[in-house]
This record gives sequence, structure tokens and C-alpha cells, in this order.
Amino acid sequence: PLRKKPIETRATCCYCGVGCGVIIESDGAQVTGVRGDPEHPANLGRLCTKGSTLHLAAAPELQAQARALVPELRARRDEERKPVSWAEAQDQLARRIADTIRRHGPDSVAFYISGQLLTEDYYVFNKLAKGLIGTNNIDTNSRLCMSSAVAGYKRTLGADAPPACYEDLELADVLFIAGSNTAYAHPVLYRRIEEARRRNPAMRMIVADPRVTDTARDADLHLPILPGTDVALFNGMLHLCIEEGTIDAAYIDAHTEGFDAVKRRVADYTPAFVAATCGIAERDLLQAARWFGQSRAALSLYCQGLNQSASGTAKNVALVNLHLATGQIGKPGAGPFSLTGQPNAMGGREVGGMANLLSGHRDLANAEHRAEVARLWGVDAVPAAPGKTALPMFEAVAKGEIKILWIACTNPAQSLPDQKLVREALQRAELVIVQEAYRHTATADYADVLLPATTWGEKEGTVTNSERRITRVRAALPAPGEARHDWRIVVEVARRLESLLGRERSLFPYEGPEAIWNEHRETTRGRDLDITGLSWRILEQRGPQQWPYPEGARTGLKRLYEDGIFPTPSGRARFVDAAYEPVAEPTDARYPFRLNTGRLRDQWHGMSRTGTVARLYAHAPEPAVAMAAADMQRHGLRQGDLVHVTSRRGSQIVPAQSSEDMKSGQVFIGMHWGEEFLSGRGPGGAGSHGVNALTLPALDPYSFQPELKHAAVKILKA
Ligand code: SF4
Repeated sequence: PLRKKPIETRATCCYCGVGCGVIIESDGAQVTGVRGDPEHPANLGRLCTKGSTLHLAAAPELQAQARALVPELRARRDEERKPVSWAEAQDQLARRIADTIRRHGPDSVAFYISGQLLTEDYYVFNKLAKGLIGTNNIDTNSRLCMSSAVAGYKRTLGADAPPACYEDLELADVLFIAGSNTAYAHPVLYRRIEEARRRNPAMRMIVADPRVTDTARDADLHLPILPGTDVALFNGMLHLCIEEGTIDAAYIDAHTEGFDAVKRRVADYTPAFVAATCGIAERDLLQAARWFGQSRAALSLYCQGLNQSASGTAKNVALVNLHLATGQIGKPGAGPFSLTGQPNAMGGREVGGMANLLSGHRDLANAEHRAEVARLWGVDAVPAAPGKTALPMFEAVAKGEIKILWIACTNPAQSLPDQKLVREALQRAELVIVQEAYRHTATADYADVLLPATTWGEKEGTVTNSERRITRVRAALPAPGEARHDWRIVVEVARRLESLLGRERSLFPYEGPEAIWNEHRETTRGRDLDITGLSWRILEQRGPQQWPYPEGARTGLKRLYEDGIFPTPSGRARFVDAAYEPVAEPTDARYPFRLNTGRLRDQWHGMSRTGTVARLYAHAPEPAVAMAAADMQRHGLRQGDLVHVTSRRGSQIVPAQSSEDMKSGQVFIGMHWGEEFLSGRGPGGAGSHGVNALTLPALDPYSFQPELKHAAVKILKA
């Protein structure tokens, strides 16, 4: 019989920040296949193992097992949740929020949301918190992901805007990859890098990473720096560029300010000091500085190795300093380029969906910005008191200061550091609302109200990828069960709350996500990310577009700062003095190993979706602690022996795995396995909270991003 032609729907992959375009094939009721969109500029048809199995995670039998399909509610903590109607769940929620605001003030309510949400979802959450309730207690899992990059860009270049684009991967003659296993974390970009290197064998690739990752193995020069020593490395490279005369004095003079203080600072970062601090050879440091300083176009790619650190902002600014000093910015193939972790962390930042931000890249701390947003939203004021960022938010819940916590599309009971504290907070909260597509996440266990949400392939809206490119995503399938779109859930509760609070004109008059996006667009007018020239129609007709795209433009801006003018008050980029600080928790006699955490190739985050696909276990079937062979031998361990990995905060049992990736004294555990996928299956057993039982809550002073990439641990045979 003739096979019916599948319905094709264009969307993006919902995993990483590369933002690959996908074509979803469906029969209208279920997804039958997925393939890369050859017309999407991010991936030109390619997909990685995760993206190419999206349809398998959407299989109906898995959906029936894994998805949250009806709203559920419990009146008391010691009861089971029971299915209720949407009206009942939303009425109750609105009443509890209104009552809590009356009794304890607006800051007794908090929202913890996600870089997996679409821009429109993010926008209405932010408006509900800051515009209607009057609290800035709204933060997202982007705090664990890109907040140090945001702080780094803003402090140096003046705006949260990655200046480069994917095309620069092909135009660079030096790629400097720092703190990123791009081959695993951004695989489709890595394919582009491999092709670019094949076409241009003269292109050099330097990788700074404590581990010998697959990316590091491919490098022309691998700098296996000790964890947390990136600032020393970047300052040391700048020291050498100054000494060797490869800085661009004319660029520094014409387009920057503050160089003298940085020059004085890096004078102390002699090759001998840097080599000893970073644990690398002086000749390798010199080679890196020479290749970078002498290159025609140097592009730095960086990710969580820089960001997830108690000195994450310092690492970011030290790297940007290197680019400014050598004039490696604002030209083809050059620039500091943060690779976004999550698919829409950028979109979330654009709408100001974090505790310190406001719509259109505005700052909460700026009174003028608050007044502008209040005017745009039609409210009297946006509250000035700073909101709680991710970890302090959970600390405030644990202390009883925040009573209601609304969590959407993320799994903090696995992903935040110091799980003991996070779980105490979830137990202490008076009301935990979890808005989720999946019913078995560790966080869903704490939900007093579970609101079933739609997910990939079911939603309409937009996302922005690492290169500032906005893509329209489309629904291929109807919502399963009674699941509703995230924006709609927020709007329906907000409208109920408005009537309880006596507000006559609704702040949430939207009939669909396009109306929300149009309002968001207006908030960007005149800002660095101005998209007033864009519309959903243009995105449909001309495909994904980069911002800025102001009124009258025919296309978005590929690359920023080519005119040498920066969005700072003086128009000049700022050098920022950054000193090397050691990691927050040094090793000692009792906790002698340095624990690093990170992604594996074929899993995503807490595995809610990828953990349902059998094929994706082929690469790494179980969690393990990777160790150097010498350390295994010293501890009398054989391959696969179970060990307790213990920090000052908790413990995890995992098999030990000898790995050539690891230097002696360092160990690595993938971040993906939490109790959802350990209970009853993995060696961690029921009750294991995954690797974040071990990590610590030390925060960067500017970005408030936690140091997920370093903790002191001990290892004992189980
Ligand atoms: Fe999805 Fe990222 Fe893979 Fe592209 S590279 S298919 S966005 S996971």
C-alpha cells in the first residue's frame, strides 16, 4: 500500500543552544520522524545523536508513561495528589497566591523557571512576577548556565550580546576553545569546526581544559590547566602578547578604556607564575599566546568551564580583555563567543526573565529602566528591591521567608548544587507549584500542585540561539491529555489573580503567543537587541533572523561592533581588571580529589526526555566516576568497582572507571543521572540525588552562578 506522505512541521531541537532547525514528520497525531532542516542557518540539515532521536522520545508509549497529563493537587503535604480540573487547580492557586501576598507581602512568592521555555512563556512569567505580583523573585536555571557570560559581556562590552556568529567558525584562523567540550556539548557546531579545519589546514585550534576531552584530543595545542585557573591563563597570555608586541595599540586607543589598570595587573602574570599556577609548560603558554596574538582572526568559544565558577565573571572578562587588547573583535572570524547551554537561555535574557534583569536587556538596578518597563506594561511601578537569584531563592524558602515557589520546566531537586539544602527548602515551602511536561522528575515529587505542560513538538512560539538568531517553532501535534501551553497556564492564573487583587484592566490580554511576542518586540525598541523590524510573518517568510533587526532593516546583524562602537556610556569597550582567585573549596588531606562535573555526549540535563530513549544509553549506560589509572591503582580499585564519592555535603555511590581523560588528583562525574534514573536501576540506588549531592553553593560575586565545576571529594571503595 502507498505510504501516506508525512505532515512536515518546522521547529528547532529542544536541547542545546546551537538551536538546530528540525523538520518534524508526523501523521498529525504522533511524530513519525525528525530530520535536520537544510534551510536553517544554524545546522544546514545536520543533527547530532540527541537531535536525531527527538521523535523517539516523543513515541506514544513513552509519552503515556512519562508525561504529566492532568492537573493534580493535594490539600496537605501528607496526602497523595489527586487529579482535579484546570479550573479548580487555577482557582486554588490564585487564591493561595493572593492570600499569601496579603499576609506576607509580594516577596513571599517566587518563581524558578527555565531556559527550556519559549520566549513568550518567559515573558508572561516575568510580567506576572514583576508587573502584577510586584516581586523580583524570579530566576531561572540560566543562572546555572550563562549568567557569568552575561555579567562578563555587560561589564566589558556594555550589553549581553554575543558579538560573533556561527559563520565566524569558518573565518577564524585561530580557534581558542576554553572550558568547553564542544564535541559533546555543541556537537553540530563541532561538525562545522571539523569541516572548517579540513578546508583550512592552517587553522589552529587551542583547547584549554583540565580533561583530555574529545575536543582536546583534536587540538593542535591542548593546555590541560588545573581546574579554576583560567584567569591566570588569560592574564598570562595577555602578558606575553604585551611583551611580544602583538597587542593592537591603535584599536585599544580608538575603541577601549581602562587598559592601563589591566596592563599593570597582567605584569604580575609572568610565564613562570602562570605555568606553575595552571600546571602547564611555559612553552605551551608561549605557543598559545603567539598563535592568538599573531593571528589574523582569533575566535574564542567558551562555555561552562568558565561560567560555572565562583570566579566565572572574572574568567569571562579576562578572556574579553585578551580580545580587546589584540583587536580580535568586531571583524570576521574574531571575537569572544559564549556558547549558550540551553536552547532558549538567550530568549529568557531578552525578556528580562531573571532576578536582576528587566525586559529588553534592561537592568533592574536602573531606576530609568524600571520606569520604562512600568510604562510599557501599564503598571504604577516595577519593584526596586533586588530579587533572589537561584540559590539564595531556595535558601530563603528554607528559612521560611518565601512561602510559595512556582517552578516551571526545570528540575532543581537534581540540578542545583547542595541538594540537601534544596530539598529542605522544597519541604519547608508552604506551597510548591510544579509546571512540567514530565511527571517523574525529582522536583515533581515535592509538588503540591502539578500543572501538566506541553513540550517540544506541541508548542508555538520563538527561541533565540547562541548567535542571537530567533527561530519560530511550531506545533506538530496537539497537546496530550489535558496538558496546556506554558504561556496559557500563566495567563489563566494571572487573570484570576487580577480579579482577586481588584485589578480592572488585565495586563494579560493575549489570545495567543504572537500577541505576547509583539508586546515583547515593543519593549526592545531602541535597545541593543531592537527587533522592531521583525514579525512572525517575516520569520515565516524569510526564516530565522539574528538580532538586532530594527524597524526598516532588511536583515539582522550578523556580527556586532564592526564599527568599533560599543553600547557603553562612552561608546568604548571597557577593560576590566581581573585577578586570579583559587577555587572556592580547595582539596586537603581529607578531601584530596578535585571533582569536575559536566555533560556526556548523548544525554541532556536531568534526562527527563533523553533518559526515555534506549539508543541514547549506548554511549554511557550508567553514571561513573572517571579517574586516572594511577589513582585507581593507588586506591586498590579495579574497573567497575563501586566507590563512595563524598564531599562535605553528601555522598554518591558510583562505579569507578579508569579514564585517559583524567589527570591524577582529578575526577569527573556526568551531571545527568539523578534519582529519577538511579532509583531501582543504577548503582546509586534509591535516594541518590546524583552528583549535585556533592557540589557546593559557592557563588560568583557578580553573576551569582554556582561553582558546579569544582568540589573537593574523597573516594572510598564501597
Ligand atoms: Fe539539538 Fe544541540 Fe544536537 Fe543541534 S547540536 S541537534 S540543537 S542537541
